[in-house]
Amino acid sequence: MQRRNFLSSSLAALAPAAPAKKMIGIQVGAVSFMDEGVEPVLDNVQQRAHVNTLFIATFTYGRGIAGRQVPGQPLADHGKQEYDLNYHGGNYTVIHPQYYGSTVFRDFRAPDHGDFDVLDAVLPAARKRGMRVICWYEDVFRNDLPNIGRLQEKELNGRNATTLCFNNPDYRGFLTGLTEDYVHSYPVDGVMWGSDRQEAFSNALGASHGGAGRDPGRVTCFCEFCLKKGRAKGINIDRVKQGYLELEKFVRAGRARRRPVDGYYVTLWRLMLRYPELLAWEMFWTDSLRETYQAIYETAKKANPNVEVGWHIWARGMRCWRRSRPVRMGCCYRGSIPRCG
Ligand SMILES: [Zn+2]
Repeated sequence: MQRRNFLSSSLAALAPAAPAKKMIGIQVGAVSFMDEGVEPVLDNVQQRAHVNTLFIATFTYGRGIAGRQVPGQPLADHGKQEYDLNYHGGNYTVIHPQYYGSTVFRDFRAPDHGDFDVLDAVLPAARKRGMRVICWYEDVFRNDLPNIGRLQEKELNGRNATTLCFNNPDYRGFLTGLTEDYVHSYPVDGVMWGSDRQEAFSNALGASHGGAGRDPGRVTCFCEFCLKKGRAKGINIDRVKQGYLELEKFVRAGRARRRPVDGYYVTLWRLMLRYPELLAWEMFWTDSLRETYQAIYETAKKANPNVEVGWHIWARGMRCWRRSRPVRMGCCYRGSIPRCG
């Protein structure tokens, strides 16, 4: 059998018997349903874009997926023509405490819309129309939350970061608890979790949108859980730290336009070869993220094997992609294009 034939017959065997309905999705936050009403929002997305799947922002403290349009960006041609200047964020559904026995982070209800439970409000109406509902939640937090310090990553300098650590059992317990809560408490079709961030090496270089101003010394994670797990994997933590201090010097010198004698490319390669621990730590973080994906996946499937599980993944190139998009109707219902650096 020729390779091409083998491939096509293998793929045919993998294909579902009946072609699945094409997913046309949109991300939409609680505030849109508050501002415009559940039925009008569903009318709008069905009539104007044939949307059949709602990615409802159920949890975030960020402005990328919840809240009204980001101040300074053009407002959408529907909904309230105002910005929400007191956005807080959190969980936009009722918190069922029985799912949070494995975390100290339990007080995360979004205060923005009182007792409004976005899944409770939207699910029956969406179901009637044959629309699917996916919980869309991401790991964006703020500093002023009860017990949040106990879940945060530690920077190389010992300070807490605003990001949370995947190897921290309280963060893992929170994520699996939240997943279980969504899948057990509501007849949702799926969950999508996103971690819109990256590892230490990339952060030190500022290799992200808006990353050029990032402090190259503020790399993570050096918390007790990561250090213990890293050592158990045979990673020399002292060498990791030395490597990142050297990388910090390299980045600072470059930003001060002090070009290395052998050039940036060669000097960076030399650093990576002298301190392979830089890359080991980069992979360690990525592996920990993947373990988190696995924990969420297994939790969701255990709660309901029919539920779909997916990820929003960190897109380093999002700056150009988003800047080239029309402003009026962007990636989400409120017409937002996230502010890029
Ligand atoms: Zn950590």
